[in-house]
Amino acid sequence: MEWEAVIGLEIHTQLSTKSKIFSGSSTAFGAEPNTQACAVDLAMPGMLPVLNEEAVRMAVMFGLAIEAEIGKRSVFDRKNYFYPDLPKGYQTSQFEFPIVGRGHVEIQLEDGTNKQIGVTRAHLEEDAGKSLHEDFHGMTGIDLNRAGTPLLEIVSEPDMRSAKEAVAYLRKIHSIVTYLGICDGNMAEGSMRCDCNVSVRPKGQKEFGTRTEIKNVNSFRFVERAINSEIQRQIEILEDGGRVIQETRLYDADKNETRSMRSKEFANDYRYFPCPDLLPVVIGDDYIEAIRQSLPELPEQKRQRFSEQYGLSDYDASVLSASRAMADYFERVAEVAGDAKLAANWVMVELSRLLNQNNLEIEQSPIPAEHLGQLIQRIRDNTISGKIAKQVFEDMWNGEGSPDHIIETKGLKQVTDTGAIEAVVDEIIAKNPAQVEQYRAADEDRRKKLIGFFVGQTMKASQGKANPQQVNEVLKKKLEG
Ligand code: ADP
Ligand code: MG
Repeated sequence: MEWEAVIGLEIHTQLSTKSKIFSGSSTAFGAEPNTQACAVDLAMPGMLPVLNEEAVRMAVMFGLAIEAEIGKRSVFDRKNYFYPDLPKGYQTSQFEFPIVGRGHVEIQLEDGTNKQIGVTRAHLEEDAGKSLHEDFHGMTGIDLNRAGTPLLEIVSEPDMRSAKEAVAYLRKIHSIVTYLGICDGNMAEGSMRCDCNVSVRPKGQKEFGTRTEIKNVNSFRFVERAINSEIQRQIEILEDGGRVIQETRLYDADKNETRSMRSKEFANDYRYFPCPDLLPVVIGDDYIEAIRQSLPELPEQKRQRFSEQYGLSDYDASVLSASRAMADYFERVAEVAGDAKLAANWVMVELSRLLNQNNLEIEQSPIPAEHLGQLIQRIRDNTISGKIAKQVFEDMWNGEGSPDHIIETKGLKQVTDTGAIEAVVDEIIAKNPAQVEQYRAADEDRRKKLIGFFVGQTMKASQGKANPQQVNEVLKKKLEG
């Protein structure tokens, strides 16, 4: 039997406001525990929340970016449950009337086609604190610095059919929120966390199977692995004649498996009700329009512009526009180099290779965009060959400075002086009489192959610095003459 996976994601995005969603405490990451939690965050009696408008503005930005309906009247509700890191005994969230309604994003699949993924809704809520289990013997520490940090929870439709699609969707959301500047996108610090809902069904069946929900996965790689291992687990259960239990699961990256956390057979009763401490949020068309006017260029628009303006392939354009930092870097290289296609090539092949090898993001590239642009200029104006350029590139990576400086101090300038090239060619011809004889006896086709030997020898003798085109011309003339 062939199985098909069905996946929906709930993505918790920390909004990068300076202060919390309902209090004035700082949201900065990494402070000493409990130094950024005020009386409101601690749920002291009588404290009242005050909504941070910046969080509303950011949520609307996101809604507009995914062409969603904006909730002109949204309501904060209390989601009641008990947990030590939730001092109020409820989380302030939005239930029935979220700030962002139905929208959609496009993802690019590996076969080059696009697919639309529906976003059901996105709502504002507050984050909880953190329970610390490691530092205290037999006890749990509670850090409330994170309590009250604004979150935008983005809920997708169950539109994805593989782990790869789910990752592509998560990456698209990641790129939208970082382009908008409403989230720093730092998954390692928990700025984006993802719950993965997974079910399987026989291919062709219309109804969805029973789903499980893998909580709090915090990297692209883990999302892909967690979903794949969960799909596998469910298929094995069904093929053995069992049934999947609806439950919450945790992903264990070391074992690459998910394990049960709590059953969801009986849905939690959160006793949602509108928070009496907060008024409904009512926003007008003017407010929404002003935000629309302030939106920066988004990944999708940039991708289209890159392919039109620079004549890049769809694939190249989507890789280079995937993050704002990558797009900015590429455009700066292209501008300095004066050739966008060469710039795209160097960024995607040579630079990406070293970044990947060293586990670095483009923001951490040791080669400034200007320098890479200058290097390409030097290939274009024949100062160096493409081959020497790779050597200069490695030196730039190792911190040896600008391309001009490296070319100058290492004497890598291409030799274009015909006299100098002729001298080297004469030497090679004199040293290899047998090959010369063979060449002269050969027909046109074979000569084309044989000349490679002489080109190689000449380039080697000039330490790669002779202009290859000139070498070819001089060799032909001398060998045939
Ligand atoms: P809950 O509030 O209990 O988490 P929701 O109905 O809001 O449940 O759905 C949460 C997520 O689960 C959504 O992203 C949705 O697309 C996804 N989902 C719902 N049903 C399925 C299913 N059968 N298989 C996979 N994902 C599903
Ligand atoms: Mg859920």
